[in-house]
Amino acid sequence: MEPPLGSGKVSSVPAHAPWLLVTDVDDTLTGDDDALAELVAVLAGAPTIRLALNSSRPLADVAKTLAELPVMVTPDAVVGALGTEIEIDGTPQPRWQRRFTGWDRRPVDEAMARLGCPAHPDHLQTSFKASFTVAERAWVEAEHLITDAGVAARFIRAAPDDFDVIPVLAGKDAPIGYLTQQLGIDPAAVVAAGDSGNDASMLLTAPHAIAVGNATAQLRHAIRGASAYQARARYAAGILEGLRALAILDASDHR
Ligand SMILES: [Mg+2]
Repeated sequence: MEPPLGSGKVSSVPAHAPWLLVTDVDDTLTGDDDALAELVAVLAGAPTIRLALNSSRPLADVAKTLAELPVMVTPDAVVGALGTEIEIDGTPQPRWQRRFTGWDRRPVDEAMARLGCPAHPDHLQTSFKASFTVAERAWVEAEHLITDAGVAARFIRAAPDDFDVIPVLAGKDAPIGYLTQQLGIDPAAVVAAGDSGNDASMLLTAPHAIAVGNATAQLRHAIRGASAYQARARYAAGILEGLRALAILDASDHR
């Protein structure tokens, strides 16, 4: 079969290879219950596609969302809190989290308090993910204050109400290699899907990527020039459209 246009790397992965779909949760996997049900049904019939969820929210918070969905989603792995927490088949991965040991968020909290930037609610915070509301005009000052406090940090600015400070080795892109290693997947057979700015690193790192139809202007700008598939369909329907367009799913599969 001829590889589709704009997805030249697909031909390097054997058609039967197990794939890893790494998808954002909010407004990518979720957002349209009917589309999610269709995606889940299609994936159930495609056992060579493994599923990893990758959320900016902590694992405990993601678990609540999954429990409330009208369809049962059973991922092989879940990544939470911007790449700082991983569960594989429901088992936490302390070996992964050890890389963040010693990272201290207290100077971050102090710096942000001095700037008058409110912290997000507790259920969105962890030891390794410090989240605040910061106006765009204060982003640079906030970063300087935190860096000057001696914190080796990576800054994820998805929106003015979403300013995250994480260890330099964290991020939604960081665990992709760990996941392929643990799940026995060819690193070339990874496809990432997302909708917002904090998905950019993941979409740029994965060898194949899908921006769903409801993707924000910030994400589209961040991945401009990259070979991500830009779906027309929104939410989970956009993931499905992308999997078919990239020939990861057979286009004739209309379950
Ligand atoms: Mg999202």
